[in-house]
Amino acid sequence: MDPIRSRWLEVARCPACDAGERRDRGAIPERCYPFGGERVPTPAHGIRLFECAACGLAYKSPLPDAAFLAAIFERQLGAKWMAAHDYAAEVAALRRTAGRDAFDLLDIGAAGGDLLAACAAAGVAGLRSALDVLRYPGLERALNGEFIEGVLDSASLAWSGHRYHVVTAFDVFEHLHRPRNAFANLRALLAPGGFVLIESGDSQSAWPRRFGTRRWWYARLIEHHIFWSREPLERCAAVHGFELVQWRRLRHKSRRQLGAAAIARDLAKSALYHVAPDSYAGWAALLGKEGNQPCSPFARDHFRACLRRR
Ligand SMILES: [Zn+2]
Repeated sequence: MDPIRSRWLEVARCPACDAGERRDRGAIPERCYPFGGERVPTPAHGIRLFECAACGLAYKSPLPDAAFLAAIFERQLGAKWMAAHDYAAEVAALRRTAGRDAFDLLDIGAAGGDLLAACAAAGVAGLRSALDVLRYPGLERALNGEFIEGVLDSASLAWSGHRYHVVTAFDVFEHLHRPRNAFANLRALLAPGGFVLIESGDSQSAWPRRFGTRRWWYARLIEHHIFWSREPLERCAAVHGFELVQWRRLRHKSRRQLGAAAIARDLAKSALYHVAPDSYAGWAALLGKEGNQPCSPFARDHFRACLRRR
């Protein structure tokens, strides 16, 4: 038995609404996924993008199975998701959403605790808890509550049972294998009337619509499985007792804090890509770089949504 191929799982139905009808959006062009210092070969028949005909969710098939992916994550611990980010703007948004300065917060995908630390520094009172697959270095400085070890879409999430006022899930929803489990857990984790703030890629935004989801830089990552837009999120949320109270498109958080030199560099790359999208990877390789598609400094290819638990 081929040990690599045996670790890829076909996805035959929409992970969000379970519909089987779908539109084939083609295969991602790359034959391997870069992850930290690794190059993970994709299966011989490639990775395809599908769009659910019922709800509009875009999803990949096949996916790496959970144990396979977890092993890669552990090998690259510290190399990924450790980039510092200034969360002052997000903390202000949390305060506006909560409508007060004291609320119990659970940050999903907390990594090194930057968001929780920013809340503490801004004087937000209340619990500051975290949920993540691993206890990343740096989390302890920011934690003032529980650490829940696991994934949001677990079928058996164990925690204190405390119900939070606000849950944040920034750059989490694209990682979900089982969105329906995730929504059920969110409902259990939140107090009635509580809010969940979500940031993730928007597959219906201009950039992926123009160049194709299969070529989107965001779809090239092994850990990104599904790609939301407003309709599937709103539908899936409604089924689980949430209403969408805010939706806006924005740039990925790494794009929102670029300096002038980085913006100039990325604009030049984006201009090149607009002229010749199919040749971009070859030119990048000639310069000793990897990349299928630059990330435009101005592309609003993400969304921030706020859901309220009924
Ligand atoms: Zn669907």
